[in-house]
Amino acid sequence: MKIYDISSPIYEGMPVYKNKEEKQPKFHTNTNGHVTESRIEIDAHTGTHIDAPLHMINDGDTFESISLEKLVGQAKVVDLTHVKDGIAKSDLETLSIEKNDFILFKTSNSFDKEFNPEFIFLKEDGANYLAEIGIRGVGIDALGVERSQPNHPTHKALFKADIIVIEGLQLKEVEPKSYLMVAAPLKLIGIDASPARVILIENE
Ligand SMILES: [Zn+2]
Repeated sequence: MKIYDISSPIYEGMPVYKNKEEKQPKFHTNTNGHVTESRIEIDAHTGTHIDAPLHMINDGDTFESISLEKLVGQAKVVDLTHVKDGIAKSDLETLSIEKNDFILFKTSNSFDKEFNPEFIFLKEDGANYLAEIGIRGVGIDALGVERSQPNHPTHKALFKADIIVIEGLQLKEVEPKSYLMVAAPLKLIGIDASPARVILIENE
């Protein structure tokens, strides 16, 4: 069984959104000479993570509303490495995306070694197109699914259509095709996101 770990490693000094210092994880390691225990301080949106509707919708559902049934199942990696700027409806129309698909966008972001302020994102018309089709979820290899769009219409269109949003994937080593995906977030209650370990398993 071939397993691809498509999660970002979490460490002090890792790439964080817009390189903001306050978004850096902090590991506080304490030892008394016999026992070592670390306290970790991270944003809920650190590395590979899953957003809940509360992230962009006032009074939106919190993280525990996302059931594991929605996070485990077939997922399709699609090759969008040729896309510049943002993923538009016209980039998606040729991919034969179907209702209930879980789509992972492999873009040039997967080849960036540092945070790229011009990262490839999903444009509003692309998000509306996916909402019309009625996909289960979308994953992207950037720390955000959108940028430079006032009022965050991409996030809102996805959340309103009950589409799961996974950000911060690493897809460089992964061929575009179908896999069994297991996305396992922390069991956090009452907040807007959670870091997650996400793996793809090659279909037999
Ligand atoms: Zn996020």
